[in-house]
Amino acid sequence: MYVSDCIDINSQGHLTIGGCDTTHIAKEFGTPVYVMDEDEIRKNCRKFVESINEYYGGNGMALYASKAFCCKEICRIMAQEGMGLDVVSGGELFTATSVGFPAERIYFHGNNKTSAELKQAIDYGVGKIIVDNILELETLNELASAAGKKEKIIMRIKPGIDAHTHEFIKTGQIDSKFGFALETGEAMEGVLKAVSMPNIELVGLHCHIGSQIFDLDPFELAARVMLDFMAEIKQATGLELSELNLGGGFGIKYKKTDRPRPFKDYMKKVSEVINEYSKKLKLKTPSILVEPGRAIVGAAGLTLYTVGSVKSIPDVRTYISVDGGMGDNPRYILYQSNYEIICANRAAEKRSATVTVAGKFCESGDIIQEWTHVQPVKTGDILAVLSTGAYNYSMASHYNRIGRPPVVMVKGGEPRIIIRGDSYEDIIMNDI
Ligand SMILES: *Cc1c(COP(=O)(O)O)cnc(C)c1O
Repeated sequence: MYVSDCIDINSQGHLTIGGCDTTHIAKEFGTPVYVMDEDEIRKNCRKFVESINEYYGGNGMALYASKAFCCKEICRIMAQEGMGLDVVSGGELFTATSVGFPAERIYFHGNNKTSAELKQAIDYGVGKIIVDNILELETLNELASAAGKKEKIIMRIKPGIDAHTHEFIKTGQIDSKFGFALETGEAMEGVLKAVSMPNIELVGLHCHIGSQIFDLDPFELAARVMLDFMAEIKQATGLELSELNLGGGFGIKYKKTDRPRPFKDYMKKVSEVINEYSKKLKLKTPSILVEPGRAIVGAAGLTLYTVGSVKSIPDVRTYISVDGGMGDNPRYILYQSNYEIICANRAAEKRSATVTVAGKFCESGDIIQEWTHVQPVKTGDILAVLSTGAYNYSMASHYNRIGRPPVVMVKGGEPRIIIRGDSYEDIIMNDI
């Protein structure tokens, strides 16, 4: 019935997350507030870890794409669950290292890493650096040489697959800023260069074909394209790569009508392709990595707001304004993301009103959702926007000098703060 297993309605008709009454959370911590369910997050991790055990005999690893939601506590949880970590910046790496996340389980991504970031990664001894382009390859070889190390790398490849998701979040095609293109020969050129470098050890390939993907076919196709390229590399250089990283992009439920495939189905089908196809190409089955981001945290989180002004414009629409908006959730203004919205204090009532939920930021486009169904809400009601665990806090800004909301984690029905909200002092902290 709901977009996530951790959401329910209690006997008072209030929305709950992880068994915790959301109206109590709103009262205790104020609004806006992000709320996440720890048990749901851990459950999602286990689905990935267990299916790697089941379908690849444990020969692989699930890396949490920390850009979806990065903070110290989530890094601790990922470390405990046996997950690896995909980081894309010095800041994400710093967050992971600040809680002692095991270095060998960190993979460093990014299409334009700075020399300082590469050096930071070498110094911490991250497991693998995912190299995006020739310039980075050269810089990394120099930095590794200066540090007296041989860096293990994976090359990011554009397999040229259109995964039928929203235009803005497609990254597997040739027109993408990420990775080496296969068709143009750029990828093979990169491989030959990497193989010739004294301080680089090429161990694998990576691709990421998009986000919020529901189909299995594009993942299967990507696996084949990548194995074909592995076979080509073996033929050209004699080198047999040991790791194949198939990226993330596993779809989740934002709307009730969304039908993501269970991750197990993905793993089963793709593992069959990989096991059979690598045999056919006379390759050893590589170790398989996947990089779920939103599939781990997205549906495990929601955001609570308080309703302020309600403006009914006759024959136009009704605007419900809340005490947050694009500063804490820029996804609608960025790419018209879908969300389910529920009135937390009257969750059992019928969602009979059609409204536009707007924020309080000074932009007409500051909208959370348009023409959405909610209970007939009044000023002072609490609105819950569901499935905001991924790409909300991590994309939040200080626009209008409005502080980012706190993040509350619920475990066993008990809430605790894991990230404090910004105070006014925090906002002027770096001003001279
Ligand atoms: C964004 C990203 C992910 C995670 O994507 P989700 O849609 O959150 O699963 C994984 N790998 C790479 C390289 C990415 O850029």
